[in-house]
Amino acid sequence: MLEGFNPPLPTCDFCSQEHVDLVLNFRAINVITGETEDGIPVPLTLDWLACPDCAELLKRGKFKQLLSRAVVFYMSKHDIPQDRFFNVRLSVRDGWREAFGNRMPGL
Ligand SMILES: [Zn+2]
Repeated sequence: MLEGFNPPLPTCDFCSQEHVDLVLNFRAINVITGETEDGIPVPLTLDWLACPDCAELLKRGKFKQLLSRAVVFYMSKHDIPQDRFFNVRLSVRDGWREAFGNRMPGL
């Protein structure tokens, strides 16, 4: 092991916190990543990995709570000012709605 070398830990795809153990795959649906030259949307399915805390919220269907948790951690990680909270929350929510559709009812 090299001195001072710390390999990056895996990060939770929801709250972007580093975790040793990511416990849950949550499959995205209907992710439109772009389009072909003919203008046909290219959907992609992706497995998102959740840390234990996020996994618990996912299992219990607490999607709004999960969203707020994700935004709080994201903003603090990237030094985004507090007054941007609702804007950031809105755009993350839109992204999740697009990614997960009816897998996150009520979001
Ligand atoms: Zn998480």
